[in-house]
Amino acid sequence: MIEFRCVSKHYSADAIALREVNLNVARGELVYLAGPSGAGKSTLLKMIAAMERPTSGSVLVNDQDIGRMKNASLPYLRRNLGLIFQQQRLLTDRSILANTMLPLLVTGASKAEAELRARAALEKVGLEGRALARPLELSGGEQQRVAIARAIVNRPQIILADEPTANLDRASADKVLDALRAFHSVGVTCLIATHDELVLYDAARQGSARVIRLDHGAVVGDAA
Ligand code: ADP
Ligand code: ADP
Repeated sequence: MIEFRCVSKHYSADAIALREVNLNVARGELVYLAGPSGAGKSTLLKMIAAMERPTSGSVLVNDQDIGRMKNASLPYLRRNLGLIFQQQRLLTDRSILANTMLPLLVTGASKAEAELRARAALEKVGLEGRALARPLELSGGEQQRVAIARAIVNRPQIILADEPTANLDRASADKVLDALRAFHSVGVTCLIATHDELVLYDAARQGSARVIRLDHGAVVGDAA
């Protein structure tokens, strides 16, 4: 479903984020991208969403070479992706329900349908009782679960999460990861970037997780 063929990314001559990365992720897999800060995890996720283009090599999503995709086609690619990135803040001036409805309204759903589906998505992340709260009334972990609800409300095939547990305490981090794993368990392909070894330890203990390790832009480990 996702394939990297000898992908390198050079932001500049001395900022090399990825070095000849080869990997394959099958439909329905749960993959943790591990490695220290600066290893290239964010860059790798951004390439799948065509937020960055490869300097060399190709990135295929559903057999489409997204490095060669026209800008006009990118919205169709992204409709298949649920993105949970630090940069995508919640809108603080409206309720979490309104935040979760937004992706549906943008793609032309009626208000009534958007509300129904947004409430269902909030229920999946355990926040149905807080639908009318504003983001800043919630804890960091709850806000991150809203971001997950907003990312999945369009029923994407693939979820990309960049450091979803950053700045969270253990209990909140576990709830965020549980929410992501719940979507994996219904067939959604999930890639989760993290430098948090406790997250990886937990994943290994629960079994069946694949961990791809990056270091200085190169894949240095890939194990289930
Ligand atoms: P990680 O997510 O593992 O922390 P990143 O993909 O963010 O790693 O960064 C990999 C490398 O690329 C780092 O050395 C970083 O400084 C560099 N980098 C990332 N984004 C940019 C950018 N927009 N411009 C220049 N260098 C960048
Ligand atoms: P509905 O069919 O009314 O949307 P569901 O309970 O079937 O209600 O789904 C609830 C929400 O779960 C969906 O609105 C959607 O936000 C989210 N979801 C996203 N991807 C999937 C998926 N692959 N399978 C199930 N639910 C998903």
